[in-house]
Amino acid sequence: MRYSGLIEKYRDRLPVSADTPVISLGEGNTPLIELRNLPRILGVDAQLFVKFEGLNPTGSFKDRGMTMAVTKAVEGGAKAIICASTGNTSASAAAYAARANIGCFVLIPEGKIALGKLAQAMMHGSTVIQIQGNFDDGMRLVQELAQDLPLSLVNSVNPYRLQGQKTIAFEIIEALGDAPDYHVLPVGNAGNISGHWMGYSESVCLQTEACGLCQGACPYHPAKARASKRPVMVGNQAAGAAPFLRGEMVKHPETIATAIRIGHPMSWNLAWAAVRESGGWFNECSDAEILAAQALLAKHEGVFCEPSSATGFAGLIQDFKAGRIRSGSTVVITLTGHGLKDPDTAIAQSSKPHVVAAERGAIADLISRHL
Ligand SMILES: *Cc1c(COP(=O)(O)O)cnc(C)c1O
Repeated sequence: MRYSGLIEKYRDRLPVSADTPVISLGEGNTPLIELRNLPRILGVDAQLFVKFEGLNPTGSFKDRGMTMAVTKAVEGGAKAIICASTGNTSASAAAYAARANIGCFVLIPEGKIALGKLAQAMMHGSTVIQIQGNFDDGMRLVQELAQDLPLSLVNSVNPYRLQGQKTIAFEIIEALGDAPDYHVLPVGNAGNISGHWMGYSESVCLQTEACGLCQGACPYHPAKARASKRPVMVGNQAAGAAPFLRGEMVKHPETIATAIRIGHPMSWNLAWAAVRESGGWFNECSDAEILAAQALLAKHEGVFCEPSSATGFAGLIQDFKAGRIRSGSTVVITLTGHGLKDPDTAIAQSSKPHVVAAERGAIADLISRHL
């Protein structure tokens, strides 16, 4: 059967009816790629998988939530949507609004948005408003604007966003046959970690401790439960934008990982609940660690994610060094967005191309020096 998006696939577990006008670009169903080289290179005894969300239609996991948020906005009769964004939410909102034939307004921080994301918001015809402030300022403003104007707010404070985002857990459980032991991801506004936890929680029986392996046989089990356990959730932040590590909001967040340059996360309580209930923790990673993790994935596994996305892997490397991951574990790492989103950061940290004459001998020389 042709795959036609996560709402069709999981309609029995999402708040939609037969009459809901589904707005989809075929999001979800992203590959779960086993890392083949890095466990050996890093000397770790674990099975590592990356869930490559960069392969969604607009290049980030935001499409999972956006298909739901825009579908419900259209069902409710909205003529336009609005969001604040560090880039990927605006790219996704713009695309789904174009698909739905409705208006789209995006507030982005001036100068702090990766080039590819800006190109997307512009190409899809949204009204792009660069504010002289950061994401947190934009978030406050769109909440106020959506109260007064006929606009549907599609940031992750919109509960339908998390409903869509929870489907990542369903896909992982299907692919592995169970939940992993650990699930590692970057945390910015904290909607995604909350969505993951919702998805995992809806996949196990929470009624009894002993229920672990009943696989749906016990009378308490939710009809769609498919996992025997929930993973330990590990949230990873950039050190300059790490309110979960500080225990309070951060006024002036700073990091090269612009998608998580957020000091005032909206899903504060939900994210704490995910980490505490799962026995997990938060890590903070320096910009240098984030870029190193991004390069490791690109150079040794052929997986190119954006810097923010690599933050989960950067934190996992810390956890292995500190002995926090039980050996023999299965770990899933969400890579939230595609590396092509931010070509400037990628090029700035790579070695420059070789310039040689358009001549066979010169090129052969160069190749022999590198063979
Ligand atoms: C939005 C985003 C994040 C952060 O997700 P939250 O739900 O805000 O925590 C991380 N990485 C990328 C690439 C993103 O687009």
